[in-house]
Amino acid sequence: MLKRSFFGMAKPRFEYESIDSPLSPEKIPLPRKATIYFKRPYDRRDTLLLKIGDAVKTGQKLLIYEDSDVYAISPVTGTVAGIAPFIGDFGESYTALTIDVSETDTFDEEFGGSFEEPNFETALNYLKTLPGNPPLSDFADPDIHLNTVVVTALDKDLLTLTNQHMAAANVDLLTRGVSMLKRITGVHKVVVAIPQKLIRRAGAIGGASGVELRPIGTDYPSALPAFILKEVLGQVIPAGKTNLDMGVSLFGAEALTNLTQAFEEKQIPVTKRLTVIRKDLSKVLVEARIGTPVKEIFTALNVTLQDMDRLVIGGPMTGNAVYSDEHPVTPDMDVLMVQDSKDVSLVSDYPCINCGDCNRVCPADIAVNMLVRFCEAREYEAAADEYDLHSCIECGLCTFVCPAKIPIFQYIRLAKHELARSAMEVELAGPETEEAEEGELAAKEPIETAEAEEAKEETAQTSEE
Ligand code: SF4
Ligand code: SF4
Repeated sequence: MLKRSFFGMAKPRFEYESIDSPLSPEKIPLPRKATIYFKRPYDRRDTLLLKIGDAVKTGQKLLIYEDSDVYAISPVTGTVAGIAPFIGDFGESYTALTIDVSETDTFDEEFGGSFEEPNFETALNYLKTLPGNPPLSDFADPDIHLNTVVVTALDKDLLTLTNQHMAAANVDLLTRGVSMLKRITGVHKVVVAIPQKLIRRAGAIGGASGVELRPIGTDYPSALPAFILKEVLGQVIPAGKTNLDMGVSLFGAEALTNLTQAFEEKQIPVTKRLTVIRKDLSKVLVEARIGTPVKEIFTALNVTLQDMDRLVIGGPMTGNAVYSDEHPVTPDMDVLMVQDSKDVSLVSDYPCINCGDCNRVCPADIAVNMLVRFCEAREYEAAADEYDLHSCIECGLCTFVCPAKIPIFQYIRLAKHELARSAMEVELAGPETEEAEEGELAAKEPIETAEAEEAKEETAQTSEE
């Protein structure tokens, strides 16, 4: 994975692994309990539409609050065993629904009976939480104007083979999926970004549907959005903007495969493929029902978890540690990693030693050693205005190389989250509050300036004396 240069001052190189044929996934048995999350904070029980003991079927669309259209798809057949709050990254609140799983599946038929031909409305109503997380809501957002879809057959993080496998194993489905996606979204430019090794195998996609196949490099971080747009479309995303601002939607190969399969088979797929990275860094691709507690995956793979081992969801460079092995498989979980407690590299509160490694490795050419100081001090606006916070493409390379073990990437993510949260609060409060805030600031400024002037005068007098 890591190719460190003989000459210490050169950038270390990290490479994605690439495959030229499908893998053979391990099938994880049905769990006894499955948990799914609704993207809605837990609310008072009297507004709930589901209650303990309710029966649910596989593929059934579940709404949980009377006043919300947020839905999830039941990945199993069984009965509701619990409804509880769940707090995710950055304190985000969800509602968690746990289901006691029956041994055999009974498939719900509502989705299959709801359409004649594939169409976008049905996709939006039933398929937003498919394994692979298709970004369907972006196509329905009136503030987003999409003109291109890039289907990516390379996973964002290192050591992850989920989307490559899905592209290699489902060339025919992807071929039909590209045509279907064009039809239902009305976006006519669809490009498939694929590693060189897979191009020959995937040639049928290009040949049959007229879609363009474009090779994608295997140097990390080629599969992050900023690099995909640059390498595949020749577009540079300005700082603070996203692929959506450029009119480009990024669809994983797994998401498109499942979307196509759902419409063709009139049944909602509920099985997630994910790469599991074991303690010795060996990898295995597994197929598990959405909602399966990750500890059941480790049991099936004979991986023993010990105290202080670390579970990471989302890959070695950009993933997040989770505190419980009860954490369920979610639609966007492409990779699950376990690190042995003795290999866990702990963060520290040592100060920066100004070695410059983070600056050298940063693909966005940010003065990371300065940026992290401002993020650590919670000076988020200065970090954004003066030290390029919004140019960061979130690759995690700086944290990986930092000899002082400063969690740079985590500080950066927190800073971006806090700035986005404040901007959202101002927006929700409406224009009156914005004006009031501006007014308050304007009213404060002369006082602050007067105070500052006073302070300056005092300092000047003191020096004269
Ligand atoms: S995560 Fe670090 S190395 Fe990567 S772009 Fe951001 S600042 Fe640069
Ligand atoms: S890599 Fe770590 S120690 Fe070195 S300059 Fe960057 S923040 Fe400081």
